[in-house]
Amino acid sequence: MLTPNKLSSIKAELIQRKEVITRDLEATDYFDIERAFETDSVGELSRYDNHPADTATDLYEREKDIALVEHAEKEIKDIDHALANIEKGTYGKCEQCGKDIPVERLQALPTATHCIEHTPDNVVSHDRPVEEEILTPPYGKFEYDEKDATFYDAEDSWQDVGRYGTSETPSDFFDPTMLDYNDMYIESDENVGYVEDIESFVATDITGNNIQVYPNATHQLYEERLDEENVMSVTGNLGGAELEPFDNDE
Ligand SMILES: [Zn+2]
Repeated sequence: MLTPNKLSSIKAELIQRKEVITRDLEATDYFDIERAFETDSVGELSRYDNHPADTATDLYEREKDIALVEHAEKEIKDIDHALANIEKGTYGKCEQCGKDIPVERLQALPTATHCIEHTPDNVVSHDRPVEEEILTPPYGKFEYDEKDATFYDAEDSWQDVGRYGTSETPSDFFDPTMLDYNDMYIESDENVGYVEDIESFVATDITGNNIQVYPNATHQLYEERLDEENVMSVTGNLGGAELEPFDNDE
């Protein structure tokens, strides 16, 4: 039951809340929506900047300011509406069915104008931005990540970017053989451009002549090691020369 005592305390609360919102809006000059350039909110002097992300931040800040102003103005409107109902003597009654709104609801939400059953705000939208229907994640978990994909997949694009540096340093790894930054990106030893470890290509020069066999990098290394072994065998150290087994992960 909404007693005159409770009504007057709700009214005082509404008036006080309106004062707070109005004071905040005036103190910030409505978040500078009308006067300032959007760049002022993040302190950038120029739009001509090396960082497109800064411009995105400007935009985001401006959108946030607009939303804050809208939210505050909506709350003031709701408070005025409730205060007008108090003057008319209709405060606390559902504007649709005319039944009393429970006092507990009014104490929790003094601007309520409807009972719970008839409130226009009882539907939560589950709408998603329409563009999501055609956008796939630019980089995300792809179904074929776990498989041995032989085409350029999301993992490959990460590796391509990752080899220019990540936040990881050699000290992040416990592998003592990892002495070079170039060994650190994911699967840095993976074959790129060929399938077998030892593989060669037959090619000609630009005129179609001069047919040559081009070994891939691993093949080249293998040939060099054979040459090395040969030299060592000449000096009598054949027993000490060992070829490391090739990594057949891929
Ligand atoms: Zn109602």
